[in-house]
Amino acid sequence: MDLFTEGDPIADARAPQGPIETRWDRRRFEAKLVNPANRRKLTVIVVGTGLAGGSAAATLAEQGYRVRSYCYQDSPRRAHSIAAQGGINAAKNYRNDGDSVHRLFYDTVKGGDFRSRESNVHRLAEVSVNIIDQCVAQGVPFAREYGGLLDTRSFGGAQVQRTFYARGQTGQQLLLGAYQALERQIGLGNVEMNARHEMLELIVVDGRARGIVVRDLVTGEITSEFADAVVLASGGYGNVFYLSTNAKGCNVTATWRAHRRGAYFANPCYTQIHPTCIPVSGDHQSKLTLMSESLRNDGRVWVPKAKGDDRAPKDIPEEERDYYLERIYPSFGNLVPRDIASRAAKNVCDAGRGVGPGGLGVYLDFADAIDRLGRKAIEAKYGNLFEMYERITGEDPYEVPMRIYPAVHYTMGGLWVDYDLQSTIPGLFVIGEANFSDHGANRLGASALMQGLADGYFVLPNTIANYLAAGPFERVDASHPEAVAARRDVEDRIRRLLAVDGDRTVDSFHRELGQIMWEHCGMERSEAGLRKAIDEIRALREEFWKRVRVPGDGDGLNQSLEKAGRVADFFELAELMCVDALHREESCGGHFRAEHQTPDGEAQRDDDRFAYVAAWEYTGGDEPAVLHKEDLKFEYVHPTQRSYK
Ligand SMILES: Cc1cc2nc3c(=O)[nH]c(=O)nc-3n(C[C@H](O)[C@H](O)[C@H](O)COP(=O)(O)OP(=O)(O)OC[C@H]3O[C@@H](n4cnc5c(N)ncnc54)[C@H](O)[C@@H]3O)c2cc1C
Repeated sequence: MDLFTEGDPIADARAPQGPIETRWDRRRFEAKLVNPANRRKLTVIVVGTGLAGGSAAATLAEQGYRVRSYCYQDSPRRAHSIAAQGGINAAKNYRNDGDSVHRLFYDTVKGGDFRSRESNVHRLAEVSVNIIDQCVAQGVPFAREYGGLLDTRSFGGAQVQRTFYARGQTGQQLLLGAYQALERQIGLGNVEMNARHEMLELIVVDGRARGIVVRDLVTGEITSEFADAVVLASGGYGNVFYLSTNAKGCNVTATWRAHRRGAYFANPCYTQIHPTCIPVSGDHQSKLTLMSESLRNDGRVWVPKAKGDDRAPKDIPEEERDYYLERIYPSFGNLVPRDIASRAAKNVCDAGRGVGPGGLGVYLDFADAIDRLGRKAIEAKYGNLFEMYERITGEDPYEVPMRIYPAVHYTMGGLWVDYDLQSTIPGLFVIGEANFSDHGANRLGASALMQGLADGYFVLPNTIANYLAAGPFERVDASHPEAVAARRDVEDRIRRLLAVDGDRTVDSFHRELGQIMWEHCGMERSEAGLRKAIDEIRALREEFWKRVRVPGDGDGLNQSLEKAGRVADFFELAELMCVDALHREESCGGHFRAEHQTPDGEAQRDDDRFAYVAAWEYTGGDEPAVLHKEDLKFEYVHPTQRSYK
């Protein structure tokens, strides 16, 4: 059987034309408005309370809509966004170092290896400046310089310092800002908050998204919930690899269920592998820890020049060290984008020059910076990250270089959305990491927080009005046949999972799936490897439905059951990721096909054949997925071989 078939092309019908710097203004002007008195008659469900969902829910409620917010954690404040460390980009040009909206736009399109939409990225760069003002007004304690002005630092893929930060806890501080805005609206009665509720199905009525089926994770009760529109802000799916830097709970269920109901899934194979994570240390681990990219402002990456040199780092003299990023990419040095730095680390380790157990590590060394700036300055900038590293490894990074290795970190793929952030299901909007929209094949550091907050505070609250202006829509309740069917699907699946009563834990399946994905759909992919992975995933999925053991029942708190549902969805997603990676016979950004590389080992794009977004349609599982191509046009940043040399 073919792995996929090709359907009609897809176009972004909402994308405005004309000069790029006027497009967002024009779209906002042309979009319909909802008069304030009518907003309270309209209800919006927002799934997710991370930076994207939290900011969207607060803003929509502030505008006067009735909002129903859902998350699976015990508090909206515990969304995965809280873990973000290094910073958030904005084209403020406070440093007067040549930054501008156009430069941020240019860097992001280039950083994404020319696989994102120009209009979306330009809007993101424009809105970036408002985000900082919004957050400062909320009291987010961004780092400041001695004179009191907001401080910035460098992140990968840029030669200007545009990254605003709050030590190594930027996500936490930003999320507290969004959370307090959300809490204010909860207090005012405009947001109904439903923590510890997991969305397990989307309800589509007459072609429109009208609600969700949720399970109360404490009581096990399953209910159908309705609204005039549904917003998914459910985050990324990096945990399909089992080991990643994501929070353990991150999963694909919300977006995958919507995909099964008709929302196209775009570019699922674009995965970001972050170069600076604490290396895997054994089978006991269930997650990996990021060492923020901000550390590469001062840390220098190196390995011994000689293969198999196992001397302690301090015993390896300067002339016997290879600062390979500075050597290969002198213009950007240690701050090349993540895809480039990850591949370079893999290459030196594959060549037998890696350090630490198994040779799967490179050094990130602060000795020069400590000599130059003093320990206190380094402590002030990165203290919490150094402490985290020491707690995990037992090594003091002020004394010995950190050991780092690439790990799965972020997913650029997600549900396909148009310029209004609406999916292929009318009334279903997708924001933050859950959509595919702005990062192309590789996301630059500090751009996820920017995108999540741009979507939540500024873009969605404008564009969703264009849809809601036609509402309120006809009332639907739990007795509607579509709602009954969606709920029955959820109940049947839970029953099926519990009924297997096998002899293998959910985790053991998840771990094995992750190994297949890392091996064949990770940092390097090949046709043979991907075909093998698809066969292995199918076999393992079959085994899962025969042998998985989910103890307990569905009538109360049951974390094995929660995990089992998520892993079942990961199996289906994993196959689509491999099909997407297999069909894209080029290398671009985080998608590196061994067969397509330049003579010096860089990604080799094929713009003639692959300058498109791959939007996949679900066909029912037994039929091959259908590929719809959205052509990408570049009028302002012309595709070239990306160079950071
Ligand atoms: C360790 C780490 C450090 C990072 N540092 C940075 C950084 O410095 N700068 C940067 O720009 N980016 C950084 N990132 C990336 C960034 O943190 C994320 O991309 C971003 O926070 C995602 O935000 P989000 O709102 O889209 O999703 P999330 O924060 O993941 O929130 C998802 C929400 O959806 C809810 N949810 C999911 N599924 C369901 C369901 N089925 N039912 C109900 N609720 C559901 C969850 O409960 C949660 O509330 C980092 C990522 C990691 C892992």
